[in-house]
Amino acid sequence: MTESGKMKWDLSQLVEFDDPGYIEEQLTAWVKAAEEFRAKHHGKIASYNVQQVHDMIEESDRYELQHEGAYLYALRMYDADMNNEVAKKLADKARTTYMFLQQAYAFAPLEMGELLSKNPEIINDSDLSEYKHYLEMIARKIPYMLSEAEEKVIIAKDKNGIRAWSQLQGDWLATRTYEIEIEGETKTLPYGEIIQFYQHPDRDVRRRVHEVVYRDLGKDHILWSAALRSICSNHVQMVKLRKLESPMTQSFLINDVDEETITALMNTIEKNRGVYQDYLRLKAKVLGFKKLGNWDIMAPLNDSPEKKYTWEESQKLVVDAYSEFDEEVGVWMQEMFDKRHIDAEVRNGKRSGAYCETWHSGKSAYILQSFNGITSDVFTQAHELGHAMHAYLGTRAQKPKNYEISYCVAETGSIFGELLITDKLLEQVKTKEEKRALLATVCDEFGGTAFQVSTRLWFETALYEAIEKGKYLDGELISKLWVEARDKMYGDSVEWFDEMQWWWTFKLHFYMPVRRYYNYPYVYAQLFVYAMYRLYKEQGKEFVPKLKALLAAGSSKSPRDLAAEIGFDITKEEFWQKGIDQFKEFVKQFEENQ
Ligand SMILES: [Zn+2]
Repeated sequence: MTESGKMKWDLSQLVEFDDPGYIEEQLTAWVKAAEEFRAKHHGKIASYNVQQVHDMIEESDRYELQHEGAYLYALRMYDADMNNEVAKKLADKARTTYMFLQQAYAFAPLEMGELLSKNPEIINDSDLSEYKHYLEMIARKIPYMLSEAEEKVIIAKDKNGIRAWSQLQGDWLATRTYEIEIEGETKTLPYGEIIQFYQHPDRDVRRRVHEVVYRDLGKDHILWSAALRSICSNHVQMVKLRKLESPMTQSFLINDVDEETITALMNTIEKNRGVYQDYLRLKAKVLGFKKLGNWDIMAPLNDSPEKKYTWEESQKLVVDAYSEFDEEVGVWMQEMFDKRHIDAEVRNGKRSGAYCETWHSGKSAYILQSFNGITSDVFTQAHELGHAMHAYLGTRAQKPKNYEISYCVAETGSIFGELLITDKLLEQVKTKEEKRALLATVCDEFGGTAFQVSTRLWFETALYEAIEKGKYLDGELISKLWVEARDKMYGDSVEWFDEMQWWWTFKLHFYMPVRRYYNYPYVYAQLFVYAMYRLYKEQGKEFVPKLKALLAAGSSKSPRDLAAEIGFDITKEEFWQKGIDQFKEFVKQFEENQ
């Protein structure tokens, strides 16, 4: 097989017949199964006995296992070739199928909630022990549930309300263009393209690109603020209507965590701001600047060697890194390559970015990335394969209902994989410069995720507080709140130019209507995995089965219980501090390699 052939995925394994007509039939059959499910159970669940609850849960899981292959096939085929007319049609059908399934199954948790509030003892019934935590999660939502009629009105209203605001923000951003002179040539670039120059090796280019983008974003502040104000105000209203304790409560229910844990996490971040600021000052020194400008925070080191890897080299590095961690995992990672579950070829019409999609019935996964052979591509590969490791373990141990992983846990395998490849690459570096550049990449990534993302949580809280106080969130006030949150994190370690007050305008996550506080799961995952990695360094092989058990548990246990099983109490600041300490360790090594 040719080199590029090896870098293209083989989707035919997902389905019995590799044929568009068959895929369509399968999707139609899934919809039909969901319709029958609804007709059979709607209006009846509240009076079900234990056996009936058990059978109903397994019934919808069965449909999923039966039909998911066709669904995955359609979307992967489209992502691989977005100009392909057949793929376009199939992907559209898959998305419609998904929406239909959402609607068809929406009644079930509501009716289950009704049943569990009448008969809470069902949760502890031994015949449902496998689904105990699944039922607990439904029960936890009971106090905040509205009637099915009310929920339906909300879904209908949101379509032209907050979802429309969110859509407008995304569409507007995607259609803006920016004019910039780079290397003597004036370019007019859309947002998605100009941001690649944020990390340009030339400091002046970086600065000008930031200035142009944020100046122009600021010109549309009336539009951005209207969208953000509507989405946040709607959230504050829904918090009252659902009688949620705080604007953050809903995110706790979705992420399967609690206030105590997230408070401990955020307190740890706040107390360690100085650690991040010190790293940024150190980076300025290494770059030869008095202070970092905001345009330098993620800048590459001047002497970053442009190391390149072939597909085979990267594969070997990554598989070796996982094999050294655990032999069985290494075999699975090799299988991902051998069975061609990774699409890494760079080509036109392919979706940008990278992801890993679980294939439950195949007990495997599919990965998409665009591999150019630079160091960050190797990291991306290790990251996505970490998700695949999670999928291999989880799908072997759990049924689909117990593999709906919390955002807090979802990045555990992937970030751990990044650390495994970090170790591997550090072993191989030949010069101090190479080592320093590698460590800077690791520290930048941690800083950008753990600390910068925490700033967004403070900002989001400030928005809801302002609404509660009856303040009007216009562009000026929103920017003021953003700058306050940002400065609380960075202190005087970075110099910001004025246009950076508009940073919040482009961030699509702030406008995601049903995922308020999308931010802290990233912070959680980063610190959690760094803490685990420290434990791995201390315990060596003894630690391996612990991580495998954690990943294999899927969503059958809460993140708090999963952590407790490896001896961590995530409600305590001392635990989160271990994650920070590992970051400090990397910073120390960075400092030593000056
Ligand atoms: Zn990921």
